[in-house]
Amino acid sequence: PSKPKVNQIKGNPIPGIQNIIAVASGKGGVGKSTVTANLAVTLAKMGFKVGLLDTDIYGPSMPIMFDVALEKPLSVNIDGKAKMKPVENYGVKLLSIGFFTQPNQAVIWRGPMASKALNQMIFDAHWGELDFLLLDLPPGTGDIHLSIMQSLPVTGAVVVSTPQEIALADARKGVAMFQQEAISVPVLGIVENMAYFTPEELPNNKYHIFGKDGAKNLAQDLDTPFLGEIPIVQSIREAGDIGRPAALQTATPTEAAFEELTRNVV
Ligand code: ADP
Repeated sequence: PSKPKVNQIKGNPIPGIQNIIAVASGKGGVGKSTVTANLAVTLAKMGFKVGLLDTDIYGPSMPIMFDVALEKPLSVNIDGKAKMKPVENYGVKLLSIGFFTQPNQAVIWRGPMASKALNQMIFDAHWGELDFLLLDLPPGTGDIHLSIMQSLPVTGAVVVSTPQEIALADARKGVAMFQQEAISVPVLGIVENMAYFTPEELPNNKYHIFGKDGAKNLAQDLDTPFLGEIPIVQSIREAGDIGRPAALQTATPTEAAFEELTRNVV
């Protein structure tokens, strides 16, 4: 694979991990986790070594999206220390708080506990050599974001939004969060998810259900790269539910859209 573009680690580098990319959204439900999962499998298909950390401690969805909800990370001994071994599927190494909680149990933690759990999944885990560690951040711009950004050498952030006004307003706050002095993480760009819908029987029609070009215009307005658009596709949703990210469907427009997006990120 070609060398990643974003490779200037700031802060304390984590040995073996070349790039840490945080994926954020302002609003929930815009497809942040779906985009992250598909970015991860696409990077793996491109030949990169990829890890994915689900930091959405209050609503972890990665174990289901990767069809590993019944698995548990094993403990391995590395230089006399017990380390967590990420679960692996589709060429992506995965850790999620979802592996350590009961399926129907709600996690009610205060910020410091949540940060501690996240720190363990980063520093007490055996990730090995990675070109990219993707972080699926919780929605919003809260405490957890701040502590993750301050404790990890994050190389860049991707912000996901739908073209809808209310999602864009929150995405704008998301971009501002990364640009704050205390955080100061370069924003790699904005992704427009659920950009439009094309019915099978009308293949030339595009219905802009959530509005047209909203995220594209926001990117321009904020002088941030526009990374690409992903339409609303039933199989993207179904793929998430059965635990096999849609970008794995070879020779489809969905695979092509995620490939283009991924190339724009790295
Ligand atoms: P978030 O992480 O922002 O909360 P999710 O990734 O969980 O959002 O997505 C919310 C819902 O929308 C899920 O049911 C997911 O399968 C669906 N979804 C996300 N992106 C798309 C898309 N491009 N086309 C169809 N369904 C999508």
